[in-house]
Parts: sequence; structure tokens; C-alpha cells
Amino acid sequence: MIWFREEGREKSEITCIFCRGTGSDPFAIATCYVCKGKKKVRVASPNVRCSYCRGTGVSPIGARNACPACYGVGFVPVSKGAQTCPKCGGTGEDKSSLYCLQCHGSGKALHMAT
Ligand SMILES: [Zn+2]
Ligand SMILES: [Zn+2]
Ligand SMILES: [Zn+2]
Repeated sequence: MIWFREEGREKSEITCIFCRGTGSDPFAIATCYVCKGKKKVRVASPNVRCSYCRGTGVSPIGARNACPACYGVGFVPVSKGAQTCPKCGGTGEDKSSLYCLQCHGSGKALHMAT
């Protein structure tokens, strides 16, 4: 997962929102593939609630799948000092690419100095 690429970044463990901590896939008789049945997931800090799925962890499109922006976790790690994303205005959505690539669906992004 690309947002764990920053070595040494603090991560927090939260209850898996996709299966609501049951460890089972809410849409199928299967192990939850977001937490792999562990009922908890780790997310790097700081993070914000995923704007794209509104923190549900479920994709707004094809609602049986995990949200592609937050991978079903419901939270997206952001950079320190990130503010409302100038590209999507904080919605986390982008009509051409499902979720906003600039903020990765979080609705927050660093404003680049010009
Ligand atoms: Zn789960
Ligand atoms: Zn999401
Ligand atoms: Zn954005």
C-alpha cells in the first residue's frame, strides 16, 4: 500500500470499519479482506476520515467493494499541514478518476507553493 511507504511513520491501530470489527466480509461469506480477519487495521498518522467514502470504507461505486481511496480503512493518511484539497475542494471525488488523485480521496492536501 503506497501510503505506508514513508518509513518510520507513526501508525495507529483502529477497528476495521469495513467489517465493523467482525472480521468477516459484510457482503459475502468470507474473511474480511480489508483486515484479513484481524478485526483491526493500521493507519499511518496523521490521517483524516476518507472524504470519498465518507469514512464508511465502502466504495461509493459498486458498494460491495472496499473504497479504492482508503482501501476500506475509512481513513487516509495526510501530510502534516494539509489543508482542504484545492483540486476537489475537499470532496475527495474526481469525475475522471473516481477519487481525487491529488489528495487520494482524503479531501486534504498540501498546498504547493508556487
Ligand atoms: Zn475487516
Ligand atoms: Zn474511503
Ligand atoms: Zn482532492
